[in-house]
Amino acid sequence: MTSEVALRTDIKVIGVVGAGTMGHGIAQVVLQSGMQVLLHDLEEVILKRAREHIAAGLAKRVRRGKFGEDEKAEMLKGLTLTITPSDLSAADFVIEAVTEDLAVKRTLFQHLDRIARPEVILATNTSSLPITKIASTTSRPSQVIGMHFFNPVPLMALVEVIRGLATADETVTATRQLAERLGKTPVEVRDSPGFISSRILASMVNEACYLLMEGVGTAEAIDTVMKLGANHPMGPLALGDLIGLDVCLAVMRTLYEGIGDPKYRPCPLLVQMVDAGYLGRKSGRGFYTYEKG
Ligand code: NAD
Repeated sequence: MTSEVALRTDIKVIGVVGAGTMGHGIAQVVLQSGMQVLLHDLEEVILKRAREHIAAGLAKRVRRGKFGEDEKAEMLKGLTLTITPSDLSAADFVIEAVTEDLAVKRTLFQHLDRIARPEVILATNTSSLPITKIASTTSRPSQVIGMHFFNPVPLMALVEVIRGLATADETVTATRQLAERLGKTPVEVRDSPGFISSRILASMVNEACYLLMEGVGTAEAIDTVMKLGANHPMGPLALGDLIGLDVCLAVMRTLYEGIGDPKYRPCPLLVQMVDAGYLGRKSGRGFYTYEKG
């Protein structure tokens, strides 16, 4: 499939929508690669916190000798925070990283379609939702694509590039090129619930949750088995806490509904933990406890 409009290739300003765990990580790597960021979220307080996270992330890289204080200051000058969605009209490429909820993303993409210039690509960082369904709310489905970063974004090398049914080849090429500019390795994937990464990872977190609920082992035992027995850098329950248990649950629901196989049934303990507000690192408590930050 080809695109009907000439896409923007001279990308200088990236609009990042959603300044949570992923949004501020994406903004950081964009700034590090010398482009500017327009970071949009619903509240000033969220944006202020995101700016602090980004500044801390850049400071860490200064300490590691990746670049100097002057360059860090220059990068931060490229960051603009806004609670006004229409400011995104200045973006050359938009990456959405809001809450994992299909209705929220579909409504947002309708708005973004009206705000962004016609030649701009609209990418979603969804972990599992159908790109094709998000794209169909816009007048430019050939320019809508999945751009799935991994957490923590500054450290993780992969970007899954997900092609919806209507996504144009030029959109795929431009998105792959952008991922490479950000220092990431793009891997192209077809639109299917959970793509490759989330289908495997969320299923593993869910299975670990069943093992815990059934009393087969403690959280420490389950995680130690996978760290020492499978050489995983962290156990599945610690991984669930890092991703966010609400995000893991949302992915399992998408897999269960989208694929229709009972093997994807969300673990009742996972549902209960999310009901209790035990969301993992971001809420200070999940399978483990953390200092809130
Ligand atoms: P998060 O809850 O940390 O942040 C989401 C942010 O979006 C919040 O700050 C919220 O205020 C904002 N938001 C919600 N609706 C909005 C709207 N209409 N306009 C502007 N901002 C809005 O979530 P997160 O973990 O950063 O996840 C964001 C997306 O990235 C989700 O789609 C998730 O599936 C995906 N993702 C998450 C991870 C992970 O490990 N957490 C990894 C890969 C992809």
